[in-house]
Amino acid sequence: MPSIKYVTGAVADVLVPRHCAVCGRKLLVNEKHLCIYCHDDMPLTYNWNLVYNPMADRFNAMIQRGLERYEPYSFAASLFFFRSGSGYRNICYGLKYQGNIRIGRHFGKILGGKLASAEHFRDVDAVVPVPLHWTRHWRRGYNQAETIAQCVASELGAPLYKDMLVRRRRTRTQTRLDVGQKSRNVSGAFGFSRRFRKSAGLEIQEHGQDSSGNKYTGGIKHILIIDDVFTTGATLNACYSALRSAFPPEVRISVATLACV
Ligand SMILES: [Zn+2]
Repeated sequence: MPSIKYVTGAVADVLVPRHCAVCGRKLLVNEKHLCIYCHDDMPLTYNWNLVYNPMADRFNAMIQRGLERYEPYSFAASLFFFRSGSGYRNICYGLKYQGNIRIGRHFGKILGGKLASAEHFRDVDAVVPVPLHWTRHWRRGYNQAETIAQCVASELGAPLYKDMLVRRRRTRTQTRLDVGQKSRNVSGAFGFSRRFRKSAGLEIQEHGQDSSGNKYTGGIKHILIIDDVFTTGATLNACYSALRSAFPPEVRISVATLACV
């Protein structure tokens, strides 16, 4: 006999049909957000299994550029690939522009599960979403990166620090900018929150030394920055720089996103 949940789900689907976010087909009761075909065809990256992967290499090339000292390798992973015009783009679009927080939670949980299955992400002890400027946060009502970060933190069993980074200034939307413009657009847009520094008892200053020049002795060892999409990596690189200004090189800073373009 079908369960009550199944029956209520079936009735709800008749009254308000749900559709696959990728192909638009009507969903069956047991399908969530995607139909079984689009779910099976999802272009997963599998890059969470690899310490060195093309996305991580791209990101590391970016953070090493213009630096005098050597930075430790950043781990990087995302759940799936999309190109412009791909239906899988609708997952990120729905979360970011259509208020579909549930789809963000669904795939954020899957991403978190994949990261938790990888040895090199298991020691993450701080999950930090890319912040929105407060005016945009206020208008949208939520931060899509934070929605994903909450699920990832919960799957990794790591604390979420949603206020560790602050957006100092509003930036133009990155969509129509070229690589150089994207990088200039977000450069210096993020800062390390003073409020967090106080509330967490982090008495560290620039380059990870406290006022008396002592070495960093904070508890955090591996930070994971979360965003919805990795395109050129410019936004994540700007966040990386803001965190690095507060944490010394022995603290690893990695990145993860729902999608990779
Ligand atoms: Zn579909």
